[in-house]
Amino acid sequence: MIESVKSKMDWISGVKESSSSNRNEATITESARQVPVAGTYDVIIAGGGPAGVCASLAAAKCGASVLLLEVGGCLGGILTSGLMSNIIDSANKGGLLCEIITELQGMKMTGGYNSVDPEAIKHIFERRANQAGVKVRLHSRVVAAIVSPERQLETIITESSSGREAWRGKVFIDATGNGDLGALAGCSYELGDSTGRLQAMSLCALVYGVDATKIPELLRSDEGKRNLYELLKKSGATPSYSMPTLFPLNNKGFLLMSNHQYQIRPDDAQAISDVTLSARSELWNQIVALRLTDQRLTELRLGVTAAQIGIREGRRIAAQYRLTVDDLIHGRRQPDPVCRATFSIDIHGALDGNSGYTSSGMKVQPYDIPLRALIARDVSGLLLAGRCICGDFYAHASYRVVGNAAPVGEAAGICAALAVRHNIPVEEVSYTDFVQSGGNPHPSGNNI
Ligand SMILES: Cc1cc2nc3c(=O)[nH]c(=O)nc-3n(C[C@H](O)[C@H](O)[C@H](O)COP(=O)(O)OP(=O)(O)OC[C@H]3O[C@@H](n4cnc5c(N)ncnc54)[C@H](O)[C@@H]3O)c2cc1C
Repeated sequence: MIESVKSKMDWISGVKESSSSNRNEATITESARQVPVAGTYDVIIAGGGPAGVCASLAAAKCGASVLLLEVGGCLGGILTSGLMSNIIDSANKGGLLCEIITELQGMKMTGGYNSVDPEAIKHIFERRANQAGVKVRLHSRVVAAIVSPERQLETIITESSSGREAWRGKVFIDATGNGDLGALAGCSYELGDSTGRLQAMSLCALVYGVDATKIPELLRSDEGKRNLYELLKKSGATPSYSMPTLFPLNNKGFLLMSNHQYQIRPDDAQAISDVTLSARSELWNQIVALRLTDQRLTELRLGVTAAQIGIREGRRIAAQYRLTVDDLIHGRRQPDPVCRATFSIDIHGALDGNSGYTSSGMKVQPYDIPLRALIARDVSGLLLAGRCICGDFYAHASYRVVGNAAPVGEAAGICAALAVRHNIPVEEVSYTDFVQSGGNPHPSGNNI
């Protein structure tokens, strides 16, 4: 009995009793261990944000068996765990994004501007994944990738309360936002601008207790942001983000984005932890100060702060095509579009000591996101979806929003399922087949 408990616990330490280590060494060597193969799927997706969920639904619809791995406790990524439930650049999109927005509108779960209810997103994503037969595994972080000598990605490894587990797949999709899977598989990547500057992170929150009709001048417009900044400043809680934003969800509830955490890398867990704590404290102080300063805000409450700080700048994994700022400025058309992006270049707090956001003086013409920007260059069997597709710093600052992440995810899911169906590499999937299977859907004209 004691023996079996002990062997079950081996995965927790990862170091066998016989290992000896010198306490002064900077690294330790873990013993090799047997990892159980927990499952085999046609398509395995790392990350359950808007891109990963749309990828999973699309792949399942095309007949693939699908596993969706998510480190958090719910699906939705920035829309749910991140509490920035606001969908930009959806107006000219069709497909799954349009279906989801139509469903949200039918449920009366959209707010002013582009905001939507985070719990409704969880409900829709999780229900659709169940109905589509997607196997969802929460609380499971992808921590390793096994690539064959021929550079084929074959297996990935997760860690969770079940220990370390291996998952075999025919095609993998990196939808982790930060490009974790691509990096683990040994793909080259870019992070930040050419000097390494990064966009700021923000911890978002849900606030309530005030009637939106009583504070119209503080709501989301540019003027509203300036007014909220001035009010916070007057109250003694000058925000670290100079364009603090209250997005109305309904008459009594709001999403609040009012802080910036500067120059934090997405792969620095301690720095992310430190700024999460200081951002949460800043949010608390802002609400206390507003309650004391403005008669209309005395009942304002911090409903909940996000479980996950919002990370704008992740790795951009090398693919067969790299979107550049030149593509955006010239509104370049591609032979293999998955969707047309229209959003401006939106750089938060990375350049010139700017504590707001800037387009860096560049104007975007509607441009195509090509399927090639989703096909990893350095390993086979890996597609990219969402924020981590291949592009330069400025292009990423435009295509990173949900209205593009979702259709890019849908495209990756279709491409993966077709590669499995025809038993071919993802780069050999015919674009005609991709379109006939629902890729690059026609815009529906439905906006949020
Ligand atoms: C503060 C902030 C405000 C924003 N505002 C807007 C806005 O108003 N409108 C808009 O459209 N867009 C906005 N964005 C952009 C938005 O973040 C992206 O569009 C969206 O996150 C991209 O979706 P995604 O699925 O690629 O990534 P994410 O939403 O980041 O989802 C990635 C998922 O992968 C999971 N994950 C990460 N690593 C692993 C791993 N190793 N193993 C397993 N799972 C993993 C994460 O937990 C997460 O659920 C904002 C971003 C931030 C940070």
